[in-house]
Amino acid sequence: MEKTKIAKRFEGKVAIVTASTQGIGFSIAERLGLEGASVVVSSRRQKNVDEAVESLRARGIEVLGVVCHVSNALQRKNLIDKTLQKYGKIDVIVSNAAANPSTDDILHTKESVLDKLWEINVKASVLLLQDAAPHLKKGSSVVFISSISAFQPPASMAMYGVTKTALLGLTKALADEMAPDTRVNCVAPGFVPTHFAAFITENDAARKTIEDKTPLNRLGTTEDMAAATAFLASDDASYITGETLVVAGGMPSRL
Ligand code: NAP
Repeated sequence: MEKTKIAKRFEGKVAIVTASTQGIGFSIAERLGLEGASVVVSSRRQKNVDEAVESLRARGIEVLGVVCHVSNALQRKNLIDKTLQKYGKIDVIVSNAAANPSTDDILHTKESVLDKLWEINVKASVLLLQDAAPHLKKGSSVVFISSISAFQPPASMAMYGVTKTALLGLTKALADEMAPDTRVNCVAPGFVPTHFAAFITENDAARKTIEDKTPLNRLGTTEDMAAATAFLASDDASYITGETLVVAGGMPSRL
């Protein structure tokens, strides 16, 4: 994305994006940074954090990198503490981390997998916000990253889809609980060719089926998701809270 072509809606703002060293999270961090935010990127591996920091800095973005596995309480707290130590405040939190460890149908999903899905895809988002909430000021904004599969969980990732459905409810509940100072919204991406979705998007037949079912006739890009997230996090969306924006090329979701 060219620096010269985009607005600067996040000048003076501080944004934390979880799971942001590649894929959708990285593009969100990049977009917020190019629009003027100081961004805090994180993921499980130090090497990935270092590479993401280097790449964003090379684009002129003010960035801090912190290792944070979202289901590790100490690392979540450290993410908030390091952000406050360096930048003194938090304006935007994008909760983007997720796991999809199994393709089993729901009735054959092991209890340990059910626990992992709940823990990473839902519970960690709640716990991160519990740590962050005391530091969120008037005008702050939270964005959850759900999925098109929240609306009609597909067979090969049904329980994952259900955890993404839970994020739609979490968005509504927290929008109410955190109002009026903090807005809470959600982005539901369609299929985006990242490492996470490679098992589908790198399969030619599966990819073609998705493209054929998508009115805009293509997969999404990480930049598509970043643009929608930046809109919801920005003051352009200052009268929007509790909403989910589906960014899926017209794939069926809901009325
Ligand atoms: P991705 O390209 O595979 O990137 C995943 C990122 O998350 C990496 O930076 C990874 O770095 C980090 N990560 C993984 N597990 C983590 C954890 N437990 N704690 C912290 N960081 C973690 O994935 P993506 O496709 O961008 O997916 C991002 C989000 O979009 C997810 O919520 C996913 O459900 C959602 N989504 C994706 C698609 C799609 O088609 N791609 C569609 C709908 C929704 P490390 O390995 O260093 O931890």
